[in-house]
Amino acid sequence: MNKIVVIDEELCTGCGACVKLCPKQILRLDETDHVCKVTDENRCDKRRGCERVCPAGAIKIH
Ligand code: SF4
Ligand code: SF4
Repeated sequence: MNKIVVIDEELCTGCGACVKLCPKQILRLDETDHVCKVTDENRCDKRRGCERVCPAGAIKIH
């Protein structure tokens, strides 16, 4: 369970906008589930770029 980068998979549409934007490349699209997954959240810069770009409001940075 992530504590820093939290994705609501019910809201995520798999659009990929956050994956493209993340400067740390810690977000990826799961090919099977078509939702965004977080790899190493400890590398997150916490600048909330993904939170702002997500059209579904599915990402929260804590
Ligand atoms: S806050 Fe920045 S570094 Fe962290 S997951 Fe979002 S885009 Fe990536
Ligand atoms: S930007 Fe939002 S809706 Fe699009 S893949 Fe990322 S978390 Fe999912």
